[in-house]
Formats: sequence, C-alpha cells, structure tokens
Amino acid sequence: MNVPFNRPPVVGTEMEAVKSAVAKGKLCGDGEYTKLVCRWFEGRTGCPKTLLTTSCTHALEMSALLLDLEPGDEVIMPSYTFVSTANAFALRGARIVFVDIQPGTLNIDPAAVEAAAGPRTRAVVAVHYAGVACDMDALGRIAEDRGLVLVEDAAQGVGSRWRGRPLGTFGATASYSFHETKNVTCGEGGLLLINDPALADRAEVIREKGTDRSRFFRGLVDKYTWRDVGSSYLPSELNAAFLYAQLEAFETIQANRMETWNVYAEAFADLARSGRIEIASIPDGAEHNAHMFWMKLRDMDDRSRFIAALKEWGIGAVFHYIPLHSSPAGARLGRFEGEDRWTTRESERLVRLPLWYGMGEAERGAVIEAARDHLA
Ligand SMILES: *Cc1c(COP(=O)(O)O)cnc(C)c1O
Repeated sequence: MNVPFNRPPVVGTEMEAVKSAVAKGKLCGDGEYTKLVCRWFEGRTGCPKTLLTTSCTHALEMSALLLDLEPGDEVIMPSYTFVSTANAFALRGARIVFVDIQPGTLNIDPAAVEAAAGPRTRAVVAVHYAGVACDMDALGRIAEDRGLVLVEDAAQGVGSRWRGRPLGTFGATASYSFHETKNVTCGEGGLLLINDPALADRAEVIREKGTDRSRFFRGLVDKYTWRDVGSSYLPSELNAAFLYAQLEAFETIQANRMETWNVYAEAFADLARSGRIEIASIPDGAEHNAHMFWMKLRDMDDRSRFIAALKEWGIGAVFHYIPLHSSPAGARLGRFEGEDRWTTRESERLVRLPLWYGMGEAERGAVIEAARDHLA
C-alpha cells in the first residue's frame, strides 16, 4: 500500500462552489465568497476583523508592514520555523533574532524571549508548531512588560485553542495558511486576523495596493486614491469559493484528522514509554487541531534509517525545518541569541508521519505496521 505524506483535502463540494462563484459574474477578490469566509472565521474566533489573503506568507508580510519597522529594529522568533516567518520582517529591514524552542512542543521558549529582548526589540512572533499553542500567558506577559508587539504565525493553528481561546486571537495580528498541506485549503491562501482595531483601516489599504478602495466600495469616500505603500494581497473569488466549501465541512475534516492522530498516539505509546521514541506532549491549556503527528528518533542517522525503511513500505515520512539561523540568509539577516540547546538537536531527529483528510483504517494500519516493524 502506498501512503503519501500529504494529500490535499478535497471534500467534494468545492467545484459546485467554484461554479457558483463563476455564475455570479465577478471573479476578482472581495466578492460574496470572500465575505462568507471572513464571516465564518470572525464568527468562530471572535476576531473583530479578518482579511482573506493570497497566502499566509502575505498575511505575515502585511503584519510586518503594519509594524512600521525602522532599520535596526529587531524581531524575535524561533529559529525552528518556516522561512516566511523571518522573510516577512527581513523584507522590512528588521534584524531577525532567533531564539531556542522548548523540546516538548518545538515552540518558542518564553524564557529565551525574555533574555533576548533588548532596547531595539519591537516584536515577538509566536509560531504555533503542529497547531499546538505556544505558552500565550508567558508570551503575553513578556510582550506587555517590554512594550513589544505580539504577532502570531498561526499558519498551522486553524481550529486550535489556548485556554479555550482560538489561536490567532492573541497577537495584535495573526495569520492562518490555506496551503494544500494545511487542514483546510484552497491550494494557496491565507487569512490575516486583526485583533488590534487600530490596525484595521491601514491593513485594508495595504492589501488593496495601498489604496482606500475598500472604503470607497463601502461608500465612506467618494473616490479612491493612493494612500500608503501596499500590494495585491487579495485572492480571487474562485479561491474563496473553494475554501468556503471546505469550511462548511470543517468538522468532518477535523474529526477524521483527529482520529488518525489519536490512533497514532495510541499505537506508539509503548515505544514512547520505553524511551525508543518521543511523541508530542500537549501542554495543559492547549487544544490542538491534529495538524501534524511527529516523533523524535535518537539522532539524524536513526531518523534517516527510519525514513528509508518506511519508504520501502511505500510510506511517506518526512523531516521538517532546517533551523533558519544555520541557513545562508538566516546567518546574514539575523543572529541566534542565547544557547541553542534544542533547536538543532531536535530538528535533526524529528520526523512527521502521513496525516491527511481521508485516511482510514487501512492507511493508518499500514503506517503503524511499517513504523513498528522498524522501531519495535
Ligand atoms: C505553511 C506555513 C507558512 C506559510 O504559509 P503559506 O500560506 O504557504 O504562505 C508560514 N508559517 C508556517 C509556520 C507555516 O507552517
């Protein structure tokens, strides 16, 4: 049996929605489906203002633009993250300050943030790895004490919570991803969540090529003009329609993913207890969304052998981020502050198992059999 690492979710109603978008005779952005998507997320999260974007990368770039960074300003983030987290701020000329993660969640270590914060620090980015919340109590407190802007990269966190509150509602801004590797998708897409109401008007302008076109359409100004820097960060209605069909099936998608996650956790619990592997520990207060199932092996060699063994069985298991501070751009545009106790070590031994909407007993069983054959 062949079990790929990822298969983009498709629920079956997407093409109907796309057809209906075409029938409305408006294909560019900010039509009815875009409104439905934003209303869906605003209703679910309680975020007062969301903007659909072309990607999470672009939502992060908008977050960085909204910060009005100046040369020499610093932004703290984990080194163990996707390039877009850092690129967004590097594009604005900020210095990236990478800090260590906590081994149980691979999330940013609040103590490392506190130690790295200095007079030039403007913002801290919380990346909720695997859809498991960062310690938002600690990060919120540090941001407030130090006068830092808290930004969330919640690309993987759609549907997750911290102490009952949805991820994406803690930062001044936050972003979700609808890339085909995420829980819900339109191929490429993202959402900017604006929790600080003072940023809402300017965010609309930035997303609309720097114009006040959105205010014009709402009848608030009688012509629209160039107001600010900006770009084209709004997706077409076709993407919004595709995404909305998936949102209507969100609970179905989530139930299936959660079942796979729980079956894996159960199947590997003995190996985790014996110390052969480590699996995620979900902290008290965090409610995750089954975005990812990872395990840690002994070291890079152990992991390479595991990945190769699963490949023999037709199972796609893959590693994840190479720490950004060790990349050419990361070394040039930022620095690692404090001790790299976990980032490099954990990134070298982490592996992700197949987890996608539609996996059933047969696929789960094949993954478990292959993994246990190698590990047990
Ligand atoms: C997927 C992802 C992104 C980028 O999302 P796109 O929608 O592909 O731009 C950024 N950050 C993290 C943590 C991600 O997982």
